[in-house]
Amino acid sequence: MSNAEVDAVVVGSGPNGMAAAVTMARAGLSVQVYEAQSTIGGGARTIDLGLAPGITHDICSAVHPLAISSPFFVDFDLRARGLEFTTPEVSYAQPLDDQPTALAFHDLDATVDRLGAAGPEWRRFFAPLLDRVDDAIWLSLGDKRSVPETLRDVPGIANVMKFGLRLLSQASPAWNIPLSHESTQSLFTGVAAHAIGGLPGMGTAATATMLSTVAHAGGWPSPVGGSQAIIDAMVTDLEAHGGSVTTNARIDHVSDMPAARAYLLDTSALNAAQIFSGLLPANVDKSLRRFKQGNAAAKVDFVLNSPVPWTDPETARAGTIHVGGTRQQMAAAEADVIAGRMPAHPVSLVSDPTVFDPSREVNGLRPLWTYCHVPFDCPIDPAEYIIRQIERFAPGFRDTIVSYNSIPASEMAAHNQNYIGGDIATGLVSFYRMMARPRMSWDNYSLGVPGAYLCSAATPPAPGVHGMNGWFAAQRALKTRFGITEAPSLAP
Ligand SMILES: Cc1cc2nc3c(=O)[nH]c(=O)nc-3n(C[C@H](O)[C@H](O)[C@H](O)COP(=O)(O)OP(=O)(O)OC[C@H]3O[C@@H](n4cnc5c(N)ncnc54)[C@H](O)[C@@H]3O)c2cc1C
Repeated sequence: MSNAEVDAVVVGSGPNGMAAAVTMARAGLSVQVYEAQSTIGGGARTIDLGLAPGITHDICSAVHPLAISSPFFVDFDLRARGLEFTTPEVSYAQPLDDQPTALAFHDLDATVDRLGAAGPEWRRFFAPLLDRVDDAIWLSLGDKRSVPETLRDVPGIANVMKFGLRLLSQASPAWNIPLSHESTQSLFTGVAAHAIGGLPGMGTAATATMLSTVAHAGGWPSPVGGSQAIIDAMVTDLEAHGGSVTTNARIDHVSDMPAARAYLLDTSALNAAQIFSGLLPANVDKSLRRFKQGNAAAKVDFVLNSPVPWTDPETARAGTIHVGGTRQQMAAAEADVIAGRMPAHPVSLVSDPTVFDPSREVNGLRPLWTYCHVPFDCPIDPAEYIIRQIERFAPGFRDTIVSYNSIPASEMAAHNQNYIGGDIATGLVSFYRMMARPRMSWDNYSLGVPGAYLCSAATPPAPGVHGMNGWFAAQRALKTRFGITEAPSLAP
C-alpha cells in the first residue's frame, strides 16, 4: 500500500460519510471526500429550490432527535461549535377528527395532562424508560455486534427489559392493550410509521419506542436555519484537520478514485457492489445486490403565505405533525404501501420550521416541509394527496399555498442516488434487516476486500441523522488498516 495517494477516500457527503471523514481526519489521516451532487450533505441539505426569493427548504431531513443525543454527536458536540437548535415544546402531534389533537410534549407531565383519561397509560408506558434514556439510545444506536454498555449492570439489564417489553407489546397484535385509547394509539403509531413498514411490526415498534422516549427527554430539535448547519459544521471540522470535499464527483468504479489505504462508501449497498464490481467475494457481491429496498417516500416542499390553519390550533405547537388519522387508518395506509398500492390517504409528515425559527420566513412567506409514504418506485405526483390530507385537519390550507416542488418516489434518486425508488432508508428497515444490514456478517461494514467499507444508512444501526454508521465504519477502518485501536476524540 505504499503507492497510496491518500490515506482514506470517502464516497458521499451525507451525515454518515461526513462522520466517517471527520473521524478519519481526527486520527491524523489524509481524507478526500467525493460527492456526486453539486452541494454537500446528502439527506441533510438545505437548498434554495427557486420557489420564492430567499426561502430555503430541507429537501430531506428536517427534525433531528439524534443530532444532539447520538453518541457520535455527543462527542462531536454541535452546540459547542456554535450551532443553535430550537426544541419545540411539543415534539410531535397527531391531529384527529372530531377531537383535540394528541400532543407529545417535551414534558411528560404536560403530555399526560393533555391526554386526559388516556394520560395514565401514556405515563405507564414511557415514565419507566425516562430514568436511563441513554440506555435506550445506545441499545438502538449500537452496531448490533458489540454488547451494549447498558447490558453491563443489573439496572441496565432491567432497563433493557422494560424497553424490550414495551417494544414487543407494540409489535404484536395485542398492541391495543397497553395503549387502549384512540389518542395514545395514534400518537404512538404516527412515530412508528417513520420506519415505513408493517403496523404492528418490530421495525416500526422499535423506531417509535426509541424516538418517543427521546421526545420526552431531549426533545426533537432542529438547527436554526435548517439541517445544512449540521453538515457545514462537519465540513469545517474536516477541513480544519486537512481533509476536503470535491463536489460534482460521482464515483462509478474504484478506478475513479485515487489509490487509498481505506475506502468508505456512503452509498447504497447496490452502488457499493457496482463500485467494487469484479473485486468483491462472490457471496458479498450477491448479498449487496440482493439487499431489499424499503418502502418509499415522496416529497413536497411548499411555500406558504401564512401558517397552516389547523382546526385545532394547538397542533401548530409541534415541530413534527403526523397527518394520518387513527392507528387503524395509518396501518391500512402503510399496508397499501407494502402491497404496492398508492393509498388514498397516505401517512404524511409535516413541519413548519418558521413557528420555532423566525429566520426561515422571508417577505411574509415560509417553507413547509412535507413528505408522504408511497409504494416503492411509485411515479405518482404526491402533491394532491398531501394537500388533501392536510386539508382534512386544516381546511383552507390550499389557499395558503404560493408554490411547491413535488418529487415522486421514482425520481428521488435523481438528487440522491442512495434513495433508489424513493427508499429514503437506503434499504428495508425490519428487525432482521437492522441486524443483517446489508448482510448477515460479523462485520457489517466490511465489503470483504481489504480496506473497503460501507458506511451509509445501509449498515447498522439504522437510517437517520446520527452519524453512527459512519463512526462505526471509520473505527473499523482505523483499527484494521492503520492499527489505531482507540477512537479519536471529536470534541471541538
Ligand atoms: C424526505 C426525507 C425526510 C427525512 N427526514 C428525516 C428527519 O427528519 N430526521 C432524520 O434524522 N432523518 C431523516 N431522513 C433520513 C436521513 O436523511 C438519512 O437517513 C440520512 O441522511 C442518511 O445519511 P447517509 O450519510 O447514510 O446518506 P445520505 O444522507 O443519503 O447521503 C449519501 C450521499 O452520498 C452521495 N453519493 C451516493 N453515491 C455516490 C457515488 N457513487 N459517488 C459520489 N457520491 C455519492 C449522495 O449524493 C449523497 O450526498 C429523511 C430522509 C428523507 C429523504
